Amino acid sequence: MGIVEEFLDLKEETDADLLAMQVGDFYEFFAEDARTVADVLDLQVSEKSAHGSSYPMAGVPVDDLTPYVATLVERGYRVAVADQIEDGADDIEREITRVATPGTFVDVTGADARYLAAVVRDETWGLAFVDVTTGQFHVADAETETDALTELHRFSPEEVLPGPELRSDDDFLGALRERADATLTLHEAASFAPGKAAHSVREQFGDGALDSLGVASDSPAARAAGAAIDYVAATDAGVLASLTRLQPYRADDHVELDATTQRNLELTATMGGDGEGSLFATLDHTVSAAGGRRLQAWLTRPLRDRAELERRQAAVGALADAPLARDALRDVLGDVYDLERLASRAAGGRADATDLLRIRETLATLPEAADALESDPDLAASPVSEVLDGVDREAAEGVRAELDAALAADPPKTLREGGLLREGYDDELDELLREAREHEEWLDGLASREKDRLGITHLQVDRNKTDGYYVQVGKSETDAVPDEYREVKSLKNSTRYTTEELEERERRILRVEEERGDLEYELFDDLREWVGERAEALQRVGRALAELDALASLAEHAAANRWVRPDLVDGDDLEIEGGRHPVVEQTTEFVPNDARFGDGRRFLVVTGPNMSGKSTYMRQVALIVLLAQVGSYVPADSARIGVVDGIYTRVGALDELAQGRSTFMVEMQELSRILHAATERSLVILDEVGRGTATYDGISIAWAATEYLHNEVRAKTLFATHYHELTALADHLADVANVHVAAEERDGDVTFLRTVRDGATDRSYGVHVADLAGVPDPVVDRSREVLDRLRDEKAVEARGSASEPVQAVFDLESGEVKTGAESQPATGTESAADGGEADGLGSEAREVLDDLRDVDVNETPPVELLSRVQEWQRRLDE
Ligand code: ADP
Ligand code: MG
Repeated sequence: MGIVEEFLDLKEETDADLLAMQVGDFYEFFAEDARTVADVLDLQVSEKSAHGSSYPMAGVPVDDLTPYVATLVERGYRVAVADQIEDGADDIEREITRVATPGTFVDVTGADARYLAAVVRDETWGLAFVDVTTGQFHVADAETETDALTELHRFSPEEVLPGPELRSDDDFLGALRERADATLTLHEAASFAPGKAAHSVREQFGDGALDSLGVASDSPAARAAGAAIDYVAATDAGVLASLTRLQPYRADDHVELDATTQRNLELTATMGGDGEGSLFATLDHTVSAAGGRRLQAWLTRPLRDRAELERRQAAVGALADAPLARDALRDVLGDVYDLERLASRAAGGRADATDLLRIRETLATLPEAADALESDPDLAASPVSEVLDGVDREAAEGVRAELDAALAADPPKTLREGGLLREGYDDELDELLREAREHEEWLDGLASREKDRLGITHLQVDRNKTDGYYVQVGKSETDAVPDEYREVKSLKNSTRYTTEELEERERRILRVEEERGDLEYELFDDLREWVGERAEALQRVGRALAELDALASLAEHAAANRWVRPDLVDGDDLEIEGGRHPVVEQTTEFVPNDARFGDGRRFLVVTGPNMSGKSTYMRQVALIVLLAQVGSYVPADSARIGVVDGIYTRVGALDELAQGRSTFMVEMQELSRILHAATERSLVILDEVGRGTATYDGISIAWAATEYLHNEVRAKTLFATHYHELTALADHLADVANVHVAAEERDGDVTFLRTVRDGATDRSYGVHVADLAGVPDPVVDRSREVLDRLRDEKAVEARGSASEPVQAVFDLESGEVKTGAESQPATGTESAADGGEADGLGSEAREVLDDLRDVDVNETPPVELLSRVQEWQRRLDE
């Protein structure tokens, strides 16, 4: 069978996107696959002809496959690898030995967690999240689809295995695609079946594993876990060994943060999609890969458990107050390698000598880290020191000592050619090393011995690949060479010889080298297995070091930015004095602001001109609460925070238009979800919600949502709105209060003070600006009058010249313009009530013109203007 046919046959066997097939010293991709990889990897495509047709072909050297596969996998491809199986005879057989996929590939380049997720829908939802690079394995329940999506967004998996029942659920799949940039893989439906799945979990984690987590063996969570294990085994059975521990993940332990909120608060990426400028990027002073991973996990999974949070706070505080010890600790942690990953590699049998060296070096930091903590008595007495309590220091020291005794100082990357292990580690190896040394000494002395014996000056002993060992004599002295010298090769100025004795030595040297290579490989493999058996203990060390790094990072940031420890309470207090936005304060002269909830203040309506700082203020409050529930210090002078069960934010669709992300429909769906999901213990941030539709719709929705949140949900809420009408709610609803971001006019310029004050904005602010801008006095006066009427009556009459009768009533309550009964187009004056077609424009066109006239260009953000223009064009087209 030809190579290409074999390739195509193997391709049929696998669901993978691409196949790399070994052909001698290369892995080759053919046909479509060749084109794809050539594009992604920037490889040369050649042509391979088979049976009269010609196929594109691209290949990579056998030893270089891993980095190429890593790139493909990181782009979301699943790559099957077919290896040559030598069967002794001349026939070369090939079979698929493993499949590298985004969620199961171990040799990744970055430090980020890489999760494989499995999702099952039954009456409730079950999820499993597996990071094969670190051995993390979480199982979780979720009540609803939205909850499931929230967790999927939180873990941000690389690859998702939807259960069979979800594969025709377009809504779910659509939402998943929108939220997570993951490869979707349809793994064998049978692996999700309750019996089979529970069996897979038992095989991997032991009989009692599910019970001990309180997970029923036929639950959706168990089914997800089983399917994930089965999939990992199917792609590369060797990887299973790195999965050492099943951990429950309870959404209830965490602050609910739906996908939109995670994005709005820019926890790990800005709205624009950049990592830089995110909360994580601002706070991250970690010095190790695992520490960064841990901090990121903390920020996306804030906690509700006050005791645990206070433990973290105390640790952060102690580290913040001990700068010298903290520096020492961070110095030590800067030298650690990614132990969770390295231990996984050892457990999976994939670690090389460098990996084991790195494990050794990392373990060596453990006592140094402990010393750094003990160097400060306050630190030693704080919960920081408890972090290392969960670590089996003796076991760690045992592994370190064993690796120290075993490994050579500078081992090669190859495992079969010796040089990995140290003398004194193994008797048999020592014997081989001794023999090798003896041969070496004999060889070293050979040249001078022969020079003396034969009286030849130009004589040297050397070795190369083709000639083996030889004695080389200069051409002028070849006459002095004795009989037992046999010529091997003649060069221009010299001749090479060998002797029986030298050949005998060579045979012995080669045998020793070979035996040494084999023995070292065997010993190394045993050592690696021995380390792999201790993977769980090592991963625990890795996690402890990561935790210390994350705590030290929070302490570092707190100390450098004058953050304070928030007071966590069980009630629903929320009082922040001198609060700042953690990200904005880094780049701006930030004006601190208070936030106070309490009696008569559960729902704050935030008003203020555009660009005054409303959005910043509300996000700052949300981020301070979030940071408090990470266990971090917070950017404020003081804060007293009742632990919340969820943070919900929604930004009006218009403000999101720039990203092309949102529609009014989505805005309303999310508002609906908040109204359903938020509780009395939640914090809700609504930013210009309702703005995405016509004014009266928008006000009505905002009004009703406010009433509902205030009366039914009772969540602590901040609602920024440009609908000034909402400020009236404070008079009617007991717990609604107004605050505004102050702005001031000086010498005709508006100055934003960035200060949040109680009460609504001065409503004549806009009129005042109009006055300053030189709008004619009669107009300004009339504006004031209209404003007063609106305030009092919510309705105002439109009028023509002073003598004319009323023509229309602008009724805010009904949101309609009523034509007055007595209105007559007595003069040529145009008005909204003028139904005539005299100007040749349709009524739609005239409404558009009216809208256009009404736009305040100085007060409207460009994005909104853009969307209005689009809207007008659409209306004119109709
Ligand atoms: P709004 O939502 O009212 O339109 P934003 O919150 O978007 O206003 O803020 C507008 C600008 O003001 C932003 O560039 C922001 O960085 C800045 N800003 C907001 N609050 C403050 C503050 N307290 N101190 C300093 N600058 C601020
Ligand atoms: Mg805003």
